[in-house]
Amino acid sequence: MIPATKHPEFDDHEDVVLLDDPGKGLAGFIVIHSTALGPAVGGCRRARYHTLSEALADALRLSQGMSYKNAMAGLAAGGGKAVLCDLGLQFSREAVWTAFGQRLENLRGRYITAEDVGTAVADMQIVARRTRFVAGLPSRLGKAGGDPSPWTALGVFVALQACLERPLAGARVAVQGLGAVGFKLCERLHRAGARLVVADIDSQLTARARLEFNAEIAAIERIHSVSADAFSPNALGAVLNPASIAEIDAPIVCGGANNQLSSPRSGELLLKRGVTYAPDYVVNAGGIINVMAEFHCEAASVVEARVLAIGDRVSELLARARTERRPPNEVADEMARSLLGRSRSRAHPGSVAQEVV
Ligand code: NAD
Repeated sequence: MIPATKHPEFDDHEDVVLLDDPGKGLAGFIVIHSTALGPAVGGCRRARYHTLSEALADALRLSQGMSYKNAMAGLAAGGGKAVLCDLGLQFSREAVWTAFGQRLENLRGRYITAEDVGTAVADMQIVARRTRFVAGLPSRLGKAGGDPSPWTALGVFVALQACLERPLAGARVAVQGLGAVGFKLCERLHRAGARLVVADIDSQLTARARLEFNAEIAAIERIHSVSADAFSPNALGAVLNPASIAEIDAPIVCGGANNQLSSPRSGELLLKRGVTYAPDYVVNAGGIINVMAEFHCEAASVVEARVLAIGDRVSELLARARTERRPPNEVADEMARSLLGRSRSRAHPGSVAQEVV
């Protein structure tokens, strides 16, 4: 396997912990990018990787992304990620998550986990029997916690408002993806009087959006090119690539999907086309804000104000990018790196896969 320091994704990560307990079905990594602002926080994703090297590359990239997201959200948290190789069904869920919980406990709070793509609340409940450094558990009365997606959707909504710089009433918004985030975003947009065009591979979801929000339905391969006031990606990574950018017919791109840019260069292409891009990890921080409030046993009521602040953050960022005539993603990366006390040059590498919080 290539050593972590030789991976193109390596960015002076603080720690790479190999998880190798094949007898219990545990194989993968916990990667800590930065603890400069606090304990490293980021979800645990479980997926089928062809090699450990592939899993490591994903963990290196995703943990750096979490550092940037947490820093820009104003959280006292660094960035980390756990990536587990899905070894199939021959191992009990109990064994995998108990072993993972023990490894987490051994790190004594340098990394805090939560669910992500391929992992569930029930998995984190098993982890929580071994360690307290886990969030994403069911919420307790009056306390923050539970499903983060409504908070992510609220953050996207206020970010969209900030990008538009005018009331949403009457604005036409093209929404890609009607899952946990996208559907709740549509509810808010509809209530605010926006006109919706939607696409999802799940026709039941589009039918529901038509019924509940009078939404127009677009083909999945066309949604990014719909003529609209804003395009909001809430499904996949890498949706902003040279081919799709050439076809975008909206002056604003602002959505909750992770890793929307296929590479940092896509940010330059958007700028050249006159499209304002609100950087994904600034826009979609509502979920992690909720997760951190849960971890610190804060009241549910503190979360809303923090998520609403995403709107002002996006406005400030876009104003700075406009003044400096630079892509907003580049400005955001630079701001994040400065908050982390790192040199300014290295951009977030962009998309390969998706994560949830
Ligand atoms: P989800 O799985 O609930 O929803 C994704 C939706 O996208 C599904 O309805 C799916 O059918 C649809 N979809 C898949 N491929 C599509 C395509 N080609 N065209 C149109 N629709 C397609 O996921 P989610 O929790 O809503 O997350 C959406 C995005 O936001 C992901 O990129 C995720 O990583 C990111 N995100 C989510 C959260 C959160 O709190 N859930 C937080 C931060 C970032």
